[in-house]
Amino acid sequence: MYSDFIKGLIDVLGSDGVLQHPTELEPYLTDWRAIFKGQALAVVFPKTSSEVQTIVQLCQEFAIAIVPQGGNTNLTGSATPEKTGQQIVLSTKRMNKIRSIDLENQTMVVEAGCILQTIQEKAAQLGLLFPLSLAAEGSCTIGGNLATNAGGINVLRYGNTRDLCLGIEAVTAGGEVLDGLRGLRKDNTGYDLRNLIIGSEGTLAIITAAVIKLFPAPVSRCAAYIAVNDYSVIVKLLHALQKKAANELCAFEIMSKESLDLTQSHFPQFSHPIFNQSEYTLLIELAEFDQHSIAHQLLEDVLSTDLEKGTIQDVLIATSLTQVKQFWAIREHITLAQAKELGNIKFDISFEISKIGPFIQSTSQLLIARYPGIRIINFGHFGDGNLHFNLCPPIGVDQNYFTHHEESISALVYDQISLFNGSISAEHGIGQLKRDYLAKHRGNTAYQMMQEIKKTLDPKQLLNPHKVLR
Ligand SMILES: Cc1cc2nc3c(=O)[nH]c(=O)nc-3n(C[C@H](O)[C@H](O)[C@H](O)COP(=O)(O)OP(=O)(O)OC[C@H]3O[C@@H](n4cnc5c(N)ncnc54)[C@H](O)[C@@H]3O)c2cc1C
Repeated sequence: MYSDFIKGLIDVLGSDGVLQHPTELEPYLTDWRAIFKGQALAVVFPKTSSEVQTIVQLCQEFAIAIVPQGGNTNLTGSATPEKTGQQIVLSTKRMNKIRSIDLENQTMVVEAGCILQTIQEKAAQLGLLFPLSLAAEGSCTIGGNLATNAGGINVLRYGNTRDLCLGIEAVTAGGEVLDGLRGLRKDNTGYDLRNLIIGSEGTLAIITAAVIKLFPAPVSRCAAYIAVNDYSVIVKLLHALQKKAANELCAFEIMSKESLDLTQSHFPQFSHPIFNQSEYTLLIELAEFDQHSIAHQLLEDVLSTDLEKGTIQDVLIATSLTQVKQFWAIREHITLAQAKELGNIKFDISFEISKIGPFIQSTSQLLIARYPGIRIINFGHFGDGNLHFNLCPPIGVDQNYFTHHEESISALVYDQISLFNGSISAEHGIGQLKRDYLAKHRGNTAYQMMQEIKKTLDPKQLLNPHKVLR
């Protein structure tokens, strides 16, 4: 039976469009953090939406499940096939064309496999901006960004990926093409299918193309690196900037001392540019939209008063784009530094801004009391209420420390998230990693509605089964 199926795939895609050899399959079977490992019958590389459609129809006929995969940079195991070896991975790598650009409408039609950075660069060549930006932008794809509703560093001003998309084209589990490639900013015509598919992690449809929004490009970027000891000052600074520079404020990031120390220990080339003994360091970015913009002055005004009063410990405002990029390189290397540590547990969570501080304080106390020496590495997109609350084992313990404690640690943290009314996934999605916590977190009614939607749109469980939902 499988040989007929593989033959069918090769008939559609040619033999170079179907990988089967174990060593060729290898890179597509493990997630970025190397936590999940699966097997697959084959990895397939369609070039067009109609090829995706034919593959889905073939999978229907042979009852073979499909795991859509873009850049495979997700942090939840959502694009990794199961261990059964009876699924295929559908890679969008070859669907990487920019189909069209509408300068009057300020939109671009892109295929799902376009690399995010390629889209950003194309927009920049046109003097425009595609504002989605994250550390994996050199390898993640717009299809993956949409399927995970990725956040990144500019959410404060431009929103999540969902807010940057006006229309999608997708292939349904039934092998139909949903043609929604329209760049309309208003369209109240029944249920919002685009927004149902965005964020569904490949479980409801395979996105093949999208209409994305472009924006005026700032003429320059202005960033500040700020050392703060007192947590309450951070919230006050955010409000001051939102009041004085609401239009310019793009990013408001927080990095704990531990997260920067860890980064420096693995990447000593990224030396900390200011006083580095403070509890927190902030990285704030404002965009300048015209030559006479006052972003730099605004930052100086807001920060100099706090510096004089001693409420912030140190400030460095970047004087060049190179320095802005250096600031961001430090921030982006926190995730990479953590990846170099043996076993760690990551929580990508969100709260109302007022609850972030109390959550950190209360949860850290509980963890340290129960697991002495545990290292708490927290950082994140503070302006969006998004915290990356990550844990490394105590120094010197054996490498299985977290294998023994992961379940109880996760239970503790998830209970705390509930207590502070937060979300167990801010921007990374659910995948396999958080699947077992979703029902409890969202409650019975919401979970049952999600199950009904899945059953209706994918009754044969062909699309990324057992991801997001059990
Ligand atoms: C260093 C690093 C930093 C990161 N920073 C951020 C960050 O700041 N913010 C953030 O939100 N994320 C971040 N991520 C996570 C990751 O980059 C995003 O989730 C990204 O959107 C995934 O895109 P991808 O193309 O790699 O998707 P993949 O990992 O290939 O897939 C992710 C999910 O989308 C599905 N999928 C992929 N393509 C399609 C498609 N065409 N149709 C339907 N389903 C599809 C897959 O089945 C899977 O469920 C980071 C990751 C790394 C490694």
